[in-house]
Amino acid sequence: MPSTWSYSFDTQVYKGTAEFSTGLFIDGNFVDGSSGKTIDVINPSTGKLITKIAEGTLDDLNTAVRAAQKSFDTVWGLHMPGRDRGVLLNKLANLIETHIDAVSAVEALDNGKTFYWAKDDVTAVINCFRYYAGWADKNQGKTIETNDDKLVYTRHEPIGVVGQIIPWNFPLLMLAWKLGPALATGNSVVLKPSEFTPLSALFIAKLIHEAGFPPGVVNILNGYGSVVGQGIAEHMDIEKVAFTGSTLVGRKIMEAAAKSNLKNVTLELGGKSPNIIYDDCDLDAAIEWAAFGIYYNHGQTCCAGSRIFVHERIYDEFLHRFTERARSVKVGDPFQAGNFQGPQVSHVQYERILGYIQSGKEEGATLHHGGERVGSEGYFIAPTIFTDVQPHMRIVKEEIFGPVGVVIKFRDEDDILAQANDTVYGLAAAVFTRDINKAVRTANALKAGTVWVNCVNSLHPAVPFGGYKQSGIGRELGEYALANYTHVKAVQVHLSHFSQVWSP
Ligand code: NAD
Repeated sequence: MPSTWSYSFDTQVYKGTAEFSTGLFIDGNFVDGSSGKTIDVINPSTGKLITKIAEGTLDDLNTAVRAAQKSFDTVWGLHMPGRDRGVLLNKLANLIETHIDAVSAVEALDNGKTFYWAKDDVTAVINCFRYYAGWADKNQGKTIETNDDKLVYTRHEPIGVVGQIIPWNFPLLMLAWKLGPALATGNSVVLKPSEFTPLSALFIAKLIHEAGFPPGVVNILNGYGSVVGQGIAEHMDIEKVAFTGSTLVGRKIMEAAAKSNLKNVTLELGGKSPNIIYDDCDLDAAIEWAAFGIYYNHGQTCCAGSRIFVHERIYDEFLHRFTERARSVKVGDPFQAGNFQGPQVSHVQYERILGYIQSGKEEGATLHHGGERVGSEGYFIAPTIFTDVQPHMRIVKEEIFGPVGVVIKFRDEDDILAQANDTVYGLAAAVFTRDINKAVRTANALKAGTVWVNCVNSLHPAVPFGGYKQSGIGRELGEYALANYTHVKAVQVHLSHFSQVWSP
């Protein structure tokens, strides 16, 4: 029997208890991993152990895939009406809402994001499930007029067993973006959370059970990327894999899919998003948004506005005031009211970010602000600003995934478009100006899957999200995401007499 983890929060912002199993969630039950091995779950605010969870193996993956297939073939897939799948998704959303504080507290403890922002994520999770509950009975095909003597129609059918692999920066939100459309369209799922943030998904697994999803429809398998993640990508009975994470691992997923059963792949990968501040913008607002763009979620956001381009006429004033804003960001305990930024998620990430800061200094950029650890325990890093950067520098080219922004001057529209698009990524971009024509011209010329005008990091379950270039393949959210999880079947019904077909 897998153990139950029970944790009492006694913090400034939340007092209460969370309790759930630390096992693998397979076929509607929590079970021990076949190897008996566990993964340590570390609190990023202290570097100390929170608990241990079961580590999945390839044997466990095979068991989960079989359970998923059985549910798909017998009670889910084409067997349950969309309306009833929608009811289940709404029940899950309601249960999460009932437990929103406890779920948010677990997310904050495990990931390091503040309780306030964890609750913001969980609210978005609830909205996402409700949004896709609405689609569950509206995933319709078309009739197609061919002008031949035929009735032609399409059906949007679920794919079958789908594998989903998610990262640690938005553990629950990424789970909802994946499960929502997959379940609404009738697929059965094997989902692997990140080994750095496995807890909140186990809480949700408990609620999935409580909501009454048939056993095997959702299987949540914690484990390492190189074992369970790679196993999902290579599995011959998984017909689709949806991945969110680094571009490096995204390549491995595609390769594994190509070498196994050519499974359908969607990828949501990294970014190095430009944030363009024209000289005719509302500067007060642009400074606020720019700080939110890079420091929100401690910079661990795929669409973080990490390259801040400022028109040369307002560069000095912007830099001065933006620095003041960065200085005012409160970094500290995720459970203390008023803190905006908690610790980075893990020691590995903390070291990686400090490595980038060191590389910036060594490559000749000016460390204008921050750049150091905050406090003496945990993985806290001060909001950081680099200036005097060059396009070849690693801090300009590579995704840092930390609270580190570079501020760069530009001259005019041609100059900024060339600089902004000079990246292998294309996830998101932001433009600040009061000139609507310039805003739209710039938005149209940017090579990015999302362009925000006079805002940043704004997401909605109805609005598609995904990347150009090496930021990914396919779109999540909105109606677009339904296509990721459905086959289109064309049915052609011949209506005329057989002899007529062959007559000259
Ligand atoms: P990661 O690529 O290291 O890990 C992501 C997931 O993949 C984890 O569950 C991990 O265990 C698994 N994994 C690792 N190696 C694997 C392998 N060989 N085969 C299969 N799975 C494997 O990424 P991360 O560090 O967890 O997350 C940060 C990255 O995610 C950043 O690059 C960020 O930009 C990206 N991200 C993108 C989006 C988006 O929507 N585009 C959203 C959030 C995060």
